Amino acid sequence: MTAGQEFDLAALQRALRAEVDGEVRFDAGSRGAYATDGSNYRHVPLGVVVPRTVEAGAAAVGVCSRFAAPVLSRGGGTSLGGQCTNEAVVIDWTKYCHRLVSVDPQGRTCVVEPGIVLDELNRQLAQHGLKFGPKPSTHSHCALGGMIGNNSCGASAQAYGKTADNIRRLEVLTYEGARFWAGPTGEDEYARIVTDGGPRAMIYQGLRDITGRHLAEIRRGYPKIPRRVSGYNLDSLLPENGFDVARALVGSEGTLVTVLRAELELVEVPAAEALLVLGFDDIYQAADAVPDLLEHSRPTQLEAIDGRMAQLMREEHAYLDSLESLPEGDSWLLVQFTGDTKQEADAQAYELLRALGRDEDDPKVALSDDPAREQEMLKAREAGLGVTARPPDGSETWEGWEDSAVAPEKLGAYLRDLERLFDRYGYQQASLYGHFGQGCVHTRIPFELREGKGIEAFRAFLFDAADLVASYGGSLSGEHGDGQARGELLPRMFGQTLVDAMGEVKALFDPGNRMNPGKVIHPHRVDADLRLGAAWRPEPKQTHFAYPDDGNDFGQAVLRCVGIGNCRTHQGGVMCPSYRATGEEEHSTRGRARLLFEMLGGHDDSPVTGGWRSTEVRDALDLCLACKGCKSDCPVGVDMATYKAEFLAHHYQGRLRPPAHYAMGWLPLWAHLTRTLAAPGLANAVLHAPALGRMGKMLAGIDPRRAAPLFAADSFQESWHRAAKPQPDPGDPRTVVLWPDTFTNQFHPHVADAAVRVLEDAGFHVAVPAGPVCCGLTWISTGQLTTARRVLERTTRVLQPWLEAGTPIIGLEPSCTAVFRTDAPDLLAGDQDITRLASQTRTFAEHLVNHAPDSWQPPRTSRAATVQTHCHQHAVLGTGPDRELMRRAGLEANVLDEGCCGLAGNFGFERGHYDLSRAIAEQGVLPAVRDTAPGAFVLADGFSCRTQIGQATTGRQALHLAEALALALDGPPPADHPEKAIPRPQPRPAAARLLTAGVAGTLTGLATAAVLATHRHRARRR
Ligand SMILES: Cc1cc2nc3c(=O)[nH]c(=O)nc-3n(C[C@H](O)[C@H](O)[C@H](O)COP(=O)(O)OP(=O)(O)OC[C@H]3O[C@@H](n4cnc5c(N)ncnc54)[C@H](O)[C@@H]3O)c2cc1C
Ligand code: SF4
Ligand code: SF4
Repeated sequence: MTAGQEFDLAALQRALRAEVDGEVRFDAGSRGAYATDGSNYRHVPLGVVVPRTVEAGAAAVGVCSRFAAPVLSRGGGTSLGGQCTNEAVVIDWTKYCHRLVSVDPQGRTCVVEPGIVLDELNRQLAQHGLKFGPKPSTHSHCALGGMIGNNSCGASAQAYGKTADNIRRLEVLTYEGARFWAGPTGEDEYARIVTDGGPRAMIYQGLRDITGRHLAEIRRGYPKIPRRVSGYNLDSLLPENGFDVARALVGSEGTLVTVLRAELELVEVPAAEALLVLGFDDIYQAADAVPDLLEHSRPTQLEAIDGRMAQLMREEHAYLDSLESLPEGDSWLLVQFTGDTKQEADAQAYELLRALGRDEDDPKVALSDDPAREQEMLKAREAGLGVTARPPDGSETWEGWEDSAVAPEKLGAYLRDLERLFDRYGYQQASLYGHFGQGCVHTRIPFELREGKGIEAFRAFLFDAADLVASYGGSLSGEHGDGQARGELLPRMFGQTLVDAMGEVKALFDPGNRMNPGKVIHPHRVDADLRLGAAWRPEPKQTHFAYPDDGNDFGQAVLRCVGIGNCRTHQGGVMCPSYRATGEEEHSTRGRARLLFEMLGGHDDSPVTGGWRSTEVRDALDLCLACKGCKSDCPVGVDMATYKAEFLAHHYQGRLRPPAHYAMGWLPLWAHLTRTLAAPGLANAVLHAPALGRMGKMLAGIDPRRAAPLFAADSFQESWHRAAKPQPDPGDPRTVVLWPDTFTNQFHPHVADAAVRVLEDAGFHVAVPAGPVCCGLTWISTGQLTTARRVLERTTRVLQPWLEAGTPIIGLEPSCTAVFRTDAPDLLAGDQDITRLASQTRTFAEHLVNHAPDSWQPPRTSRAATVQTHCHQHAVLGTGPDRELMRRAGLEANVLDEGCCGLAGNFGFERGHYDLSRAIAEQGVLPAVRDTAPGAFVLADGFSCRTQIGQATTGRQALHLAEALALALDGPPPADHPEKAIPRPQPRPAAARLLTAGVAGTLTGLATAAVLATHRHRARRR
């Protein structure tokens, strides 16, 4: 029991473990990972329960109730108002309770569990041509329980309304144990409920009583605008609204009931869409135009993007294609129409244009007829928060006044006043965008949340802004809910009487105030419990990497994570493979960023202690593949692979490391020694000998189920230098250096041979460094950063003539190429040779596409190809030139969007990672390879990806793009399994067995000799 806590935490924990079928975690790591949501607030939870079933979740609430412990339900944890962080027992519904229980296609309804993610639900409903209408921007990872909690909506609300408008019934559980299905309640049903008696009857009678006493106030005090999300939905209890208890509970943010199941109303997936984009001189004029547009049309979405957001996208090089397709203007309205046919949808757009007296030729008008482009443009709008959260100039913007709403006809005037308020507080350059068709405005504001004066101003601004929106008859929140950010402001909007009525409702459902306390009703102050705050004092850290985009500050880099939660998506891109496989918050990029934040120790109550030596952070990072997926896919560029390397460097400083760090971290060194001793054959035999290999793997920290990669008989450098070709002049513009990375050089030298052939075919003269060189990748990924730095310094010395001459350096292995481009400059900031190395490094495809003579045609190979992009290529190098090279070569490339292959360098080899590594691969990459036609290529430039594909039961070996092109130089590749034409090192089981037998024989001989010697010795002494 701790101060202010009236229950025994240890006993609570024991009871939860004993009575709940689920994972019960009160450890520091879990508590740290769940300490914040997407908001400015932070509360360390008491513990986390991950129920395996809905019944188990209900049981957890029951146990908490017995102990009077506060409870907080959690979905995707993307809330922006602080309603999903609390000093409570957090129930995470997303890992197991995510079933679509039933669908009634005729009645257009379905029943779901609370943890189901919206996109996943809609994927399952697609077979019926149905979907759930409301769609927040977080649709790829928000859960239905969270949507119900927040009364979520989004652009599609223009057509389908908010979540509350699409709920048929809810199965709910009160803190005190009443469990029932709630919905619209006719007189007969009401009478039956009252007759049945019990807690439910008391609640229903109480609700009737409260509504009855405040009828006039509710009718008058609830704004009649499309986007009123603030406050409890007392208006749903009005007689004219059918005394709908389910809808009244939607948006109560876990403060009244726990939702166990929901019956949803569904809508038809529209057959066709059309998008009309209109440009304006500024965002106010765009807002002014909305009423006219709504008078002449019935769009299904009416969204706005302003010039500031477009400018940030340009600066961040994000969504450039989308921006290019926008018409002239500084700000834009995106108007979407749907219909049964494309013509029908288009016709509505043309009709609107006519009504506005404009046409398609107007430079400020764009009417897209390409659905993919339409989606791209809408995606740019959805990305708003990510783009505006961390502008490239290093400033920070925060939520707080992120989703206010007024009637659409008042929007222009409201925005002008809001801008004046920004000016008064000196909050410059806030982007204004959002769901203008419903009068809802998004903005993130550069509040100063680290020092007292700034926080005072933050608070004063919120009160002024609340008064402003109330003066327009609007809503504090038009989308994201109240939580802690708006709870204290509710009286400004509703008046005290209505807020008191909401308090009565709270008392009816949760008399002890144990359900998500301090949020919405009886709220904590808007400026309390801040994630940062005036008392936040993180410990400054000396670091190995420079973090140039974060003011050379590791803490600032960690703060990048604003909790958007895109790292919890299950499809598309790469981020985050470990979360996709485990479903664990702690194994998402966000969970790891949270733990690092806690590790920095800015708050007294941080559960993570021990700084760099923290075992919680080590464990959370253990399953990070260092794939760099987050570096590109996270909207604010959290780069967990770098943070992991930094952490490992400090964590193990002066201590023994795990064996894998010495075995695989030092791989380039071992490989070089093996060559020097002329023993690649012996190394292959040892590593593949049944017993010896197992023992070797055990000592090296490698999973016994992993086959060690096979050394080639000759390394690429050996055969290259044996051929004694003259080194070309570094200054000759045709000269290129082919980088002999360890993986290509030692294990797949044919890749480099092939690259040389293609480069020479294109007229280049290839130079290859003599002697061992390395990019330091394996030392970086295992956090041996001092060694990595030395390795890189040695490399630049070897490369000096070429670096000075500006010779292009061609990388074949994406992970090594990415080191030169990003890790090396961060690790050796200010080193001029490293800067040269970064700017002179090119991928094979980049060089051929951008620098080969115009007259050169890549060898034609008209084949299909399944292409797995290495994660570091995806994150750092991009795939544009590869796609172009494949196009020019006639390859019909199916570039997979199935995420990481799961091997990720040393990760998949390490003991304890095998199952996860394979699970990740089976989520998309391996099935796609198995589905590849026998005559098609399987291409993977990454050694890891080729290894994972080759070691799985796919029946295929993947090739590097260079190998596919080189094959085509000799004519058509084999019609069946074209990789058959490629030489790869093959295991020699007989040699391995012989070696085992030999070693076993030797050991037996030695043991026998030792026994005999002992006997003789003893006999002599006797
Ligand atoms: C980048 C970004 C963009 C966003 N865009 C939108 C948008 O377009 N539209 C929009 O509406 N919102 C938006 N949001 C806010 C948020 O994503 C949505 O409200 C989302 O639907 C919340 O879902 P979740 O699963 O993350 O909920 P959570 O944050 O996990 O929970 C939300 C609330 O519901 C409660 N809750 C969760 N499960 C239950 C349950 N089983 N029983 C009772 N209560 C429960 C929680 O306690 C909490 O109070 C955005 C947020 C971010 C970060
Ligand atoms: S890591 Fe990136 S994507 Fe994940 S929650 Fe943080 S900001 Fe969002
Ligand atoms: S590096 Fe990869 S595994 Fe690690 S957090 Fe980022 S996306 Fe996830």
